[in-house]
Amino acid sequence: MDSKKQNSGFATKAIHSSNNPSKWGGKSASTFKENPQDGKEEYLHGGNSNATRDTLENCLASLENAKYGVTFGSGLAAITAVFNLLRPGHHVIISNSVYGGTTQLVKEVFMRFGIEFTFINFVECGNFQQVMKPKTKMVFIETPTNPLLHVLDIESIARSTHMQPGTLLVVDNTFTTPYLQRPLDLDADITVTSLSKYMNGHSDVIMGFVATNCKSVYKKLRTLQTVTGGGPSTLDCYQMLRSIKTLSLRMDQHGKSALCVAKFLEGNKFVEKVSYPGLKSHRQHELNRRQSYGSSGIVSFWIKGRLKQANKFLNSLKLFQLAISFGTCQSLAQLPYTMTHGNLSPEAKQIAGITENLISLSVGLEDAQDIVADLDQALKASQK
Ligand SMILES: *Cc1c(COP(=O)(O)O)cnc(C)c1O
Repeated sequence: MDSKKQNSGFATKAIHSSNNPSKWGGKSASTFKENPQDGKEEYLHGGNSNATRDTLENCLASLENAKYGVTFGSGLAAITAVFNLLRPGHHVIISNSVYGGTTQLVKEVFMRFGIEFTFINFVECGNFQQVMKPKTKMVFIETPTNPLLHVLDIESIARSTHMQPGTLLVVDNTFTTPYLQRPLDLDADITVTSLSKYMNGHSDVIMGFVATNCKSVYKKLRTLQTVTGGGPSTLDCYQMLRSIKTLSLRMDQHGKSALCVAKFLEGNKFVEKVSYPGLKSHRQHELNRRQSYGSSGIVSFWIKGRLKQANKFLNSLKLFQLAISFGTCQSLAQLPYTMTHGNLSPEAKQIAGITENLISLSVGLEDAQDIVADLDQALKASQK
């Protein structure tokens, strides 16, 4: 057994909660007729709510085992709403290996508004009590981290966070999706997910989602969704409802093929090292087994050589597309050193462990033997 066993009827829930026939019909419009008697209608304006979005939010919340869920126009809009729960003077402890866009959002926007952020390495600083302040209202992490795929212990971080009453633990769950990891079950207070990646899975929707069991947080998020105009479009919600129905099948296949790829790379003489939480050689393999229901399709590895070999490898790939996103049907490959982390200074790259020969793969849904064959030929070509 590679990980915790799914026992929630996840696939059944995903398919049934994404269908709500009584709410379809003409109720996906952007404006609705009011009842002239009492001025009440279930829906007033598509910007506030509509049947398709309600169905999607209820479906996603149930998959997270959450009481409440709110969708946003993108993953970053969802994260923006989460930070908008704070006020000037508040302090946030945030992992230094969160998604690059999150770091930028913090530095370009929220730091300017008098919210203080402390970036720390959660892998080496499991006990972060020493950076907690009375004003620390939020701890924000993402696990596994990108692109090194370190696994952070959600339950233990939740315990430390809650030593200070009222401080919220937020987990960005984009990498694993609620199919593979459910942070609220592990005592996190909020999960935030970019639906643009695995959740949608076909790289044709941009959307985000926040889930929580805390009613007061939910109410604030709902207000933020309306007053900031941050909600998603009805058509995107409709597409997401279709995608969710196949989430478990897609994630199972991504995971199976990724394990195949990781094992192949681990045994290849042109590869220095592989990082994949599903591999026994992964430093936090046991922790990953305990807190998740499997591993996703992201595999990172260090090719033998330097930038020249890494680029040769990437340019020799035929099936893999060179691209910075992940979580879609098609296999993607990227070089963090020049792509996702290209803007960092050489020192910052070194601190973050982003070396010239680090390659990040998003293993897609093509036939596993074709995926491995493509990697094999590109690895051979890299050393010529
Ligand atoms: C892509 C991504 C986001 C941002 O999502 P968008 O929908 O592109 O705005 C946030 N967190 C993680 C981990 C991501 O990979």
